[in-house]
Amino acid sequence: MITPVMPTYARYELSLERGEGVYVYGTDGRRYLDLAAGIAVDSLGHCHPHLVEALKKQAETLWHVSNLYNIPGQERMAERLVANTFADAVFFNNSGGEAVEMGFKMMRKYHAANGQPERFRVISVEGAFHGRSLACIAAGNQEKHTAGFGPLVDGFDQVAFGNLNEMRGAITPETAGIVIEPVQGEGGIRHVDNNYMRELRDIADEFGLLLMMDEVQSGVGRTGKLYAHEHSGVTPDILASAKGLGGGFPMGATLATETVAAAMTAGSHGSTFGGNPLAMAVGNAVLDVVLSDGFLDNVSNVAEYLSAELGKVVERNPDVLSEVRGIGLISGVKCQKEGQNGELVKVCIGEGLLSVPAGDNVTRLVPPLIITPEHVDEAMGMLDTACRAVAGKAG
Ligand SMILES: *Cc1c(COP(=O)(O)O)cnc(C)c1O
Repeated sequence: MITPVMPTYARYELSLERGEGVYVYGTDGRRYLDLAAGIAVDSLGHCHPHLVEALKKQAETLWHVSNLYNIPGQERMAERLVANTFADAVFFNNSGGEAVEMGFKMMRKYHAANGQPERFRVISVEGAFHGRSLACIAAGNQEKHTAGFGPLVDGFDQVAFGNLNEMRGAITPETAGIVIEPVQGEGGIRHVDNNYMRELRDIADEFGLLLMMDEVQSGVGRTGKLYAHEHSGVTPDILASAKGLGGGFPMGATLATETVAAAMTAGSHGSTFGGNPLAMAVGNAVLDVVLSDGFLDNVSNVAEYLSAELGKVVERNPDVLSEVRGIGLISGVKCQKEGQNGELVKVCIGEGLLSVPAGDNVTRLVPPLIITPEHVDEAMGMLDTACRAVAGKAG
């Protein structure tokens, strides 16, 4: 018999009921060090006092009004994102998939508004993950996400990761833009190098394409910059943000330059919930912390420590681990044998450590940005023990 909750997830046997800082507590009475963070969502850990206060205060003031009216918190958050990024305008939505999907719509609208409606195709790269809507799975083009959901939405092409010749070769008069994750999360914590990013910008400019960055997972401070593309010095035309943006409150945002955003005229797009007062109260509170003096430097410092310590764990466990992946606090370890990443995640739960499997046989660590070196030490101890257990089973 089917479970009342639709069986789309192969869930771990773990029920979580409470969280504080970087720890969550299970109904089993155990404490877990949370380096999964709701998959890079709980950017400030669990129940951060500043976020709790902001949410409580807003809950007693005003929950929801339509976007038919001005929403002061939304204006404030948009102004702050504009002031701190490449963008000139922001549209708020509810999730990463929605933020990306709107980006695709904007690419089409921009070219249509500029008299080239035939330009509607978007090029993505292999290993990409852009969300679960019909357009997003077509862009990601991963068999495990598209199987049974055909026919795929037309207008998406895919080329090999990091291959500029293939990228150039895939461009036709129908191409509207390129979508890229500066760091692939689901794809296995694969970091796009700065040179490739600069070349993508050049190619986009040469062919009149829009460059869109999917920073749903890599954004909001996770790499030590507000957005990961800042490391490359290259700016996009469109950017999708979500996950860490709400620190656990569901929200997304699509950011764009004025040239692109100008095509999104009144009535062309909308959202019932997007940017509502509750979401904006929490989003602004997240920005208060992430944009505060020294916060991002601290992320870089602890990330450097994590990376070095992960390197030592890899050295100590060569039977199970082959390399460290990542930049900042979007990180992971690649496993030796196919499927060992999932095995490692399971064994880690037994040790009291939460992590997330990713593609390319990687076990992903995307901790709250407030993690300290002491937490890293604690996590590395558990990871070491888990690796030895996995090695024992394999041998
Ligand atoms: C998680 C994720 C998405 C989808 O976000 P949802 O909120 O699940 O819709 C899209 N792109 C990237 C890079 C992601 O990591």
